[in-house]
Amino acid sequence: MERGHIYQTKIYAPYDGCHWTWEYCYYDGKKHYLHFGEQAKTNTFLASKLKDAFDFKTVPAGVYDTDLNTAEGRKELVTEVNAMHLSAIAKWIHDNTEFTLTATCPECGAECEVHEMHSTGYRGDGGVGIELLGYICSDCYASGVCDDCGEYDPSTRYIESEDKVCCEHCKPVSCAMCGKDMGDSENEVCSDCEDTPEYTAHLLKIELYLAMKRYQLFFPDCEQITAPVLKSA
Ligand SMILES: [Zn+2]
Ligand SMILES: [Zn+2]
Ligand SMILES: [Zn+2]
Repeated sequence: MERGHIYQTKIYAPYDGCHWTWEYCYYDGKKHYLHFGEQAKTNTFLASKLKDAFDFKTVPAGVYDTDLNTAEGRKELVTEVNAMHLSAIAKWIHDNTEFTLTATCPECGAECEVHEMHSTGYRGDGGVGIELLGYICSDCYASGVCDDCGEYDPSTRYIESEDKVCCEHCKPVSCAMCGKDMGDSENEVCSDCEDTPEYTAHLLKIELYLAMKRYQLFFPDCEQITAPVLKSA
């Protein structure tokens, strides 16, 4: 058995919810079983399953052996480990071994230590073979966290008028005519623009347009008209 290896295997966990779970064991002369969340319950399953791996020279089928002593091994662990556990494993390895897992931030291309990266949501089916998806560096994460809802959202943009960053969902609505901020209003235009002849004319054009669309259902050869667009000031 060589030091600096991490073993992972998928085992059956007969409790509510998830019936398959990933278990990990790190070997540095001693065996360190790593359990995350629900996995703590399955401690003994893994111990018996992995016992063979430590008693024999060969690793049994279904147990993945990753050598952290090599750059390839460390890279492999980052891409092959269950994405839900990547953060926890990277942190454990950083805190308890001489190794550090690194990965490239898919947003900015910076080389980062994985235990400092942030998950933006998991993708994949929970099995081995998941790409490093949904992990970005702390700088990219910070610039994508909405000041209003506090959620990470790639749509988050700087709102100049409010001097803050907001996601698409929280960003203030602006009047389609004068551009004035309307908070979280569900109206198309502000109360000032609502009473203008221009807006009244626009509403009439919409009505005409909808009537024409209905007419076209029965008379497809009639003249086509385009949807009216509200002109901003
Ligand atoms: Zn980044
Ligand atoms: Zn938001
Ligand atoms: Zn307005």
